[in-house]
Amino acid sequence: MTIKRNYIAGEWVEGSGTTRNINPADTSDIVGEYATADAEQARAAIAAAYAAFPAWSQAGIQQRSELLDRIGQKILDRKQELGELLAREEGKSLSEAIGEVGRAGQIFKYFSGEVLQLRGDIQPSVRPGLEASVTREALGVIGMITPWNFPIAIPAWKIAPALAYGNCVVFKPAELVPGSAHALTEIIVEAGIPAGVFNLVMGPGRVVGDTIVNDKCVDGISFTGSVNTGRNIAAAAVGRMAKVQLEMGGKNPLVVLDDADLDTAVECAVNGAYFSTGQRCTASSRLIVTEGIYDRFVEAVLERLKTLKIGNPLNPETHIGPVVDERQLQQNLKYVEIAKEEGGNLVFGGEQLQLETDGFFQQPALIIDTTPEMRINREEVFGPVASVIKARDYEHALELANDTEFGLSAGIVTQSLKHATHFKRHAQAGMVMVNVPTAGVDYHVPFGGRKGSSYGSREQGSYAREFYTTVKTAYTSA
Ligand code: NDP
Repeated sequence: MTIKRNYIAGEWVEGSGTTRNINPADTSDIVGEYATADAEQARAAIAAAYAAFPAWSQAGIQQRSELLDRIGQKILDRKQELGELLAREEGKSLSEAIGEVGRAGQIFKYFSGEVLQLRGDIQPSVRPGLEASVTREALGVIGMITPWNFPIAIPAWKIAPALAYGNCVVFKPAELVPGSAHALTEIIVEAGIPAGVFNLVMGPGRVVGDTIVNDKCVDGISFTGSVNTGRNIAAAAVGRMAKVQLEMGGKNPLVVLDDADLDTAVECAVNGAYFSTGQRCTASSRLIVTEGIYDRFVEAVLERLKTLKIGNPLNPETHIGPVVDERQLQQNLKYVEIAKEEGGNLVFGGEQLQLETDGFFQQPALIIDTTPEMRINREEVFGPVASVIKARDYEHALELANDTEFGLSAGIVTQSLKHATHFKRHAQAGMVMVNVPTAGVDYHVPFGGRKGSSYGSREQGSYAREFYTTVKTAYTSA
């Protein structure tokens, strides 16, 4: 098996070690073997990005726009093949994986246009005869540290705006999913990226990630992943005054009111909680249901759960693929046990499944009659596990929805305009969904949360420029 290499300073280079990319649906299937970088190689990538920055940041928006458009098109042209690779290495169903690849292509296309929209301000000065202008410039070298759950879309929504606005990139993907990162790098190289502007350094977070975070030549760090890692990265970045942007966990509520359309409520809950194996930071892990619909809702969700097929993601009939790895599977099973011990009532699933191949399959879990203080309602599980909390009325449901240290996405299912409007205004979350699942977002509007879910400026859409550019105010005497 040929070893897929890192890309540093315009060259494909051997690593100091290698790692095997294993299919979580079939552990006998080796997706590929990938080089892992050490700290020295990570520093070489940073130095290359630093050296390339002056020319790239001055290259002009036409060149950058065309490059991004080519990258986006090449991704879209290879949607099926890249979707299969993604499904094999991460485990989400093939249709979800192809959808994610399509999303990555659209993001590059979007930023190829967005870069042409960059504008500043000219204002009269308060001092007669002077003019003040406000412009945006590229930040510099950006370190990107990404998670395993969206192996191509999350890198795309960091890399595309970074390159669009004239930054250079050092990209460190999660160790579990080097395949999509490597394929994306091949596309970026084929599209004609100048040497040093984009660098791929696969390897362990505690080595490669840590080097990126602490190197003084890295001007900004964009991170998505767990709360603990995010906190440590923020502390290190702020300590040396680098710009930092973090997207972390969620404990997202989906409120279902008595007047909800039951079918909509069930689809929102099942899609939001269990699709993509529940491995989404926007997953609806807390289902907050008012008394009048509680029993009917639980019954209908149970019926729907029985129709879901768990299996190999490449099988077109599969709705839910495996958990990403053994460690995550054990974490999910542990939380199901904790919920039971704390008094939750497990009414569906929650156990490991043995299927025809040796993989990390889990039956989605539904735990009812839970209370807000239980750990299952406070800590992110990051798997196909949802808990149900009974609420007295809308006001109580809103209070429960906001009773969390997270604030990424919050949803409500109701036919009441009054309650939907009130919820949009008062939900303490960065994203609010009315009659749609808490997961599933557009690429041209901001993505991000409040409280413990996010830190720094928003990602995606035109709001991404806040992180990837820095503002300059110039005064001119006429
Ligand atoms: P991590 O936060 O550990 O990993 C995210 C990224 O950070 C990976 O690229 C990882 O590299 C890197 N990293 C790890 N340690 C360091 C470090 N010291 N310095 C710099 N970078 C580092 O998440 P995990 O993948 O371990 O998942 C653990 C839990 O995090 C999940 O169970 C889930 O609860 C949550 N999570 C949340 C996500 C979200 O989108 N909200 C996404 C993924 C996970 P490497 O892979 O090499 O360790």
